[in-house]
Formats: sequence, structure tokens, C-alpha cells
Amino acid sequence: MKKIALVSACLLGVPTRYDGTGKQNAEVLALSKEYLLIPFCPEQLGGLSTPRKPAEIVGERVINVDGEDVTEFFVRGAQVSLQIAEKIGPNVVILKEGSPSCGVHFVYDGTFQGRKVEGQGLTAKLLREKYPVLCENDLEKLEQV
Ligand code: SF4
Repeated sequence: MKKIALVSACLLGVPTRYDGTGKQNAEVLALSKEYLLIPFCPEQLGGLSTPRKPAEIVGERVINVDGEDVTEFFVRGAQVSLQIAEKIGPNVVILKEGSPSCGVHFVYDGTFQGRKVEGQGLTAKLLREKYPVLCENDLEKLEQV
């Protein structure tokens, strides 16, 4: 029986990103040989529309490019994502690096200048309390999961 991976929908090419595009990753897609890939998008689950204004983490809050506080959508998205994970019990969660929801090792610094800082998205932070969480760049660690 295949193992289960909960995957950022955009990595499978689903157009869920803030700009209405996907970010298909061939290596992630190829995992379908071994894993049942379950797509999810925390920001959509949290109630945000697609397309939507880009947002970045600023301290404890998430702020969009117009300065609006959208934290509640990101928190809800993380919580609903956790509910989905708890129902399906994934062997691993694979998330899109850099996102204020899905970032695993880094996020953008809150200035909308494209500068990265160490950190993690709200959904990544919540899910890694219970599940192994990887990004698309560290699939080699799957063997250790
Ligand atoms: Fe992809 Fe996650 Fe952003 Fe949704 S919230 S578009 S799944 S990176």
C-alpha cells in the first residue's frame, strides 16, 4: 500500500498561489509512485481568495502588501490543515519553501523586497509538532522519515 504525503497544492501544479499560478515540482510529482499525494492549500483553507495580495510575516503577525493584517486567515488555514492531517494521518508533509504558510526553513523578511530570513510559515510550524515536515528542496531526507 502506498504511503501518504500531504503536499502543498501549488507544488503539484495546482494554481493556488497568491498570483493565481502553481509551482509544479517534477521531483515532488514523481513521488506519486510511492506516495498517495494529497494536495492542500492553507491560505485557501483559511478563507483567502485566489489571486490574493502577497503577504509576509512581520513579527507575530502576517501583513499583506497593502499593510492589512491578515493573520487570522493564516491562523485558520493552519488549524484547518492540521484537522485534515489528523483525519488522514500522513507519513510526511511536503511544503513549498518560503511561503508565510508553508515555508519550512525560510520566509521573507516582511519588507516585500524579496529578502529571505530563517523562519517557518504558520502551517509548517503547526504541522511539524505532529508530523515530519520537509520542503521541496530536501526530499533526500524522505528516507529518514
Ligand atoms: Fe502553495 Fe502553501 Fe502558498 Fe497554498 S499557501 S499557494 S499551498 S505555498
